[in-house]
Amino acid sequence: MPSLSVLPPKCLQKPLLVPHRHMFGPGPSNVPSRILEAGANPVIGHMHPEIFEIMNDIKSGVQYMFQTQNNMTLAVSGTGHTAMECAIFNTVESGDSVLTAVNGIWGERAAEMAERIGARVNTIVAPPGGFFTNAEIEQALSKYRPVLFFLAHGESSTGVLHPLDGIGQLCQRYNCLFLVDAVASIGGAPLHMDQQGIDILYTGSQKVLNAPPEKNVYIGPIGIRKSKPVSFFLDLNWLANYWGCDGKPSRVYHHTGPVTAFFSLRESLAVLVEEGLENSWERHQKVAEYFHTGLESMGLKLFVKEKKARLPTVTTIVAPHGYDWKEITSYIMKTHNIEISGGLGPSVGLVLRVGLMGCNSSKANVDMVLGALKDALKHCHKSKV
Ligand code: PMP
Repeated sequence: MPSLSVLPPKCLQKPLLVPHRHMFGPGPSNVPSRILEAGANPVIGHMHPEIFEIMNDIKSGVQYMFQTQNNMTLAVSGTGHTAMECAIFNTVESGDSVLTAVNGIWGERAAEMAERIGARVNTIVAPPGGFFTNAEIEQALSKYRPVLFFLAHGESSTGVLHPLDGIGQLCQRYNCLFLVDAVASIGGAPLHMDQQGIDILYTGSQKVLNAPPEKNVYIGPIGIRKSKPVSFFLDLNWLANYWGCDGKPSRVYHHTGPVTAFFSLRESLAVLVEEGLENSWERHQKVAEYFHTGLESMGLKLFVKEKKARLPTVTTIVAPHGYDWKEITSYIMKTHNIEISGGLGPSVGLVLRVGLMGCNSSKANVDMVLGALKDALKHCHKSKV
């Protein structure tokens, strides 16, 4: 036998070290010990009856969170991007017309995903911080006649909460599926999937739900496509069976479900159920308003001008004039052990982003962030121009 050419790495002979940090960026947010502990339960088989029961509980929790009666509710293994691709791959075929609303990075990404599978993609574009009227959306639907229309409810890159009323009905009129990204908004801002005519909705576990970033929850139609989707892993026919959504008497192995992630996701949904969806919406709104008032009284400006379009979960602050935003975020991380972030995609350099989601959404945390920002503006370099 030849001797090993790669030696045991020294780094792995040291213990794992993870700092405690205030996670006040656009996600992930802090995970309360109750949810962490749920995820530390023993691993059991992904096809065991107890797991199916836990998956059914998750399904009920997601239906509540989404306000839908749709039985086709499941959690996809992966991150928010996995859910986006799952939604698009299962509804769009090569050559189909797709329309995405771009007022930040998420519409851009959805457009790219659809393009990669050969769709004819058109976009409507609003400047960062802006949003679309129903008349603008209708005009584009009638012009492009898409099979799918993508809209981000919470545009976390720009801090916009997009109005949803009436858009589902427009999509119905134009025979188009309405796909909504609620990764950054669900649980923190009102959304009624069935009443608002949303066909496909997904979110992530790492924001308001305060679970680790390894699961996303997804709901969507099935059997719409004529051909099989390009991805086996994301094929909704398979996933629906694993999640007991297809009415078949037994579930078949598709992939090894991340059972410990199911435990933490179930716990995070239990926390939401305990608080109540409406109470959670109200708390996020009140805390956001308290934060916005505090920012304005410090002389900082909010990036989203229209009050009702401000996302209560992720606040965008106009990057303070004369400062380097990177110096501010790293000062706050180093001095206050708080993560806040800069912009993303089209908002890079324009904003600072602060996310207060789920258990992090409290007035005490607002005071902590305001204090850190004040300190940063005092100590970071300010140019004279
Ligand atoms: N959509 C929105 C609105 C998001 O905020 C995010 C995460 N920042 C995603 C999609 C993608 O999620 P993930 O990073 O978990 O893939």
